[in-house]
Amino acid sequence: MTERATNGYDVIIVGAGPAGLCAAMYVGRGMLKGLTIERGAPGGELLNTDLIEDYIGFESIKGWELAQGMTEHARKFGAEIVTDTVEKIRKASDGWFDVATARGHTYRAPAVILTAGGTPVKLGVPGEKEHAGKGVSYCAVCDGAFFKGEIVAVVGGGDAAVEEADYLTRYAAKVYIIHRRDRFRASKILQQRAFANPKIEVIWNKRVLEITGTAKGSEGLVLEDTVTGEHSTLMVGGVFIFIGFQPNSGLVEGHAKHDANGYFVTDDRMMTTIPGLFAAGDVRSQLTRQITTAVGDATTAAIAVEKYLTALRQTD
Ligand SMILES: Cc1cc2nc3c(=O)[nH]c(=O)nc-3n(C[C@H](O)[C@H](O)[C@H](O)COP(=O)(O)OP(=O)(O)OC[C@H]3O[C@@H](n4cnc5c(N)ncnc54)[C@H](O)[C@@H]3O)c2cc1C
Repeated sequence: MTERATNGYDVIIVGAGPAGLCAAMYVGRGMLKGLTIERGAPGGELLNTDLIEDYIGFESIKGWELAQGMTEHARKFGAEIVTDTVEKIRKASDGWFDVATARGHTYRAPAVILTAGGTPVKLGVPGEKEHAGKGVSYCAVCDGAFFKGEIVAVVGGGDAAVEEADYLTRYAAKVYIIHRRDRFRASKILQQRAFANPKIEVIWNKRVLEITGTAKGSEGLVLEDTVTGEHSTLMVGGVFIFIGFQPNSGLVEGHAKHDANGYFVTDDRMMTTIPGLFAAGDVRSQLTRQITTAVGDATTAAIAVEKYLTALRQTD
């Protein structure tokens, strides 16, 4: 593109988790000039994951190891990764995107792939951070198999909590659902399924005050009764926290269609309702959020960007 010399890049990728790194690799292979902006170390949620056992081709791999492999692979195909935090993505009147960062740069490109992921909402109680990945989990599909035959607790009362509790009974001997109210917010069908499951017991009107344990893992929960204020303890091998997930979708200025939970809605090419703005991975509205789905989205997005830019050039 002729503008490249002045405006720099064909595409800017925001975030270097699995989706961003995969997009960067495909962008490089497609001979496009891409820039990936990552606020921390490349790898995204892989860096918060101890062991991964469901990424096809790797029976078992450490999160940091997969992150390193993905980063090296992307760099091998020319990925340029800068450390900075994107503060705003704005489509300018010339149709290009201005991507403004905390370090005061504004990078410009005719296309952006947003792969900023999201963050599970934390309980914010003592012991949660210390035991994350060692008994404290935010993903049943990812970590359920590590708790075969154990007693685990699920915290929450929405769809995710109730559905994932049911899922966990495939592995766990017993699953407690701890909810701070006396009824669930989850849909009726999910509730019926959970109530009918003999491995599930609901503990109503309790909030988790603390997660206790050793350096090796969590051992128990200190609970408070939300009606009487009484304290009690519950011994469990693991605790799964499903009290919400916050997508990092607030960076975009202007309206891009999103679902009720703030995830971007895309077409089958991963393009949002803002032409040239693509979304991939955990930030996108979809059924499930896994490493495989993140890299799948990113593959589609990077190839779609190539086609989008070709079409743009033809209309210039
Ligand atoms: C604890 C845990 C364990 C998991 N275990 C598994 C598992 O075993 N198997 C599995 O398939 N899935 C697992 N998952 C889910 C999986 O990690 C995610 O689905 C996947 O990482 C999504 O990739 P992503 O690139 O879309 O987002 P992320 O991995 O979240 O990456 C997003 C990146 O964007 C960066 N970013 C965000 N905002 C900005 C900004 N403003 N500026 C610059 N950079 C920004 C972040 O720093 C991050 O690096 C797990 C998730 C968690 C939380």
